[in-house]
Amino acid sequence: MQNLIKLNHVYKSYTQGQLTTPVLQNISLNINTGEFVAITGPSGNGKSTLLNLLTGIDRPCSGEIIINETALQLLKEEELSVWRGLNVGIVFQFFQLLPSLTLLQNIQLPMDFVNKYPKRERLDRAHYLLDRVGLTKQGKQLPGQVSGGQQQRAAIARALANDPALLVADEPTGNLDSSTAENIYTLFTALQQEGKTLVIVTHNEDLAKTASRHITLHDGHVSSDQCLSKPI
Ligand code: ADP
Ligand code: MG
Repeated sequence: MQNLIKLNHVYKSYTQGQLTTPVLQNISLNINTGEFVAITGPSGNGKSTLLNLLTGIDRPCSGEIIINETALQLLKEEELSVWRGLNVGIVFQFFQLLPSLTLLQNIQLPMDFVNKYPKRERLDRAHYLLDRVGLTKQGKQLPGQVSGGQQQRAAIARALANDPALLVADEPTGNLDSSTAENIYTLFTALQQEGKTLVIVTHNEDLAKTASRHITLHDGHVSSDQCLSKPI
């Protein structure tokens, strides 16, 4: 099993004025290609901070984060944003699709940003991805014209635009009803079966059980780390 993510002794604190709040304290963690990892834990315990470090949106105070053999702490800001565009798909709680663009246009944007796929292939690829998330007929709709669950599916298609090895999501079903949320997790499991690695933060313990590994963060530490099923 190939190692995709390696965190070595990662510390993160935030300083405001004279007050320094430790958020992540000495986290060391390996995640293999093809794992579907759910992260839970009480609010304010560093889950979003951990995801922001994995995506290079934020930097650790000390420690190493190595993803696909790239040491993120060694990259400059511009290098990080290109790296992120090629290697990570990010899904948010409130979808964050651009409201004035159709779903197809939203999905093409990340492709235009990194130029991995030739221009002439991008529309076809956006159609393929919409199809993949079950929205074949909705491509020309604006985000505001489809349901929350459909917007999140489109956001997942957008996250897959450049075929990243890693998909991360921060409370992706926090704004969806329970059956829609289950459908999103079924899609995550299908993506895992296709070889993607997923790291998903959720408040929902039942949904976390559908992942292949469940990590709990408490007071900035990993308080439990359980393999629920064999990674594919
Ligand atoms: P969670 O996602 O588990 O709810 P977060 O990672 O968002 O937790 O936050 C962990 C702690 O770090 C909280 O105490 C939060 O207030 C603090 N924090 C998060 N982001 C910042 C920031 N940009 N500046 C200062 N403090 C922050
Ligand atoms: Mg959070």
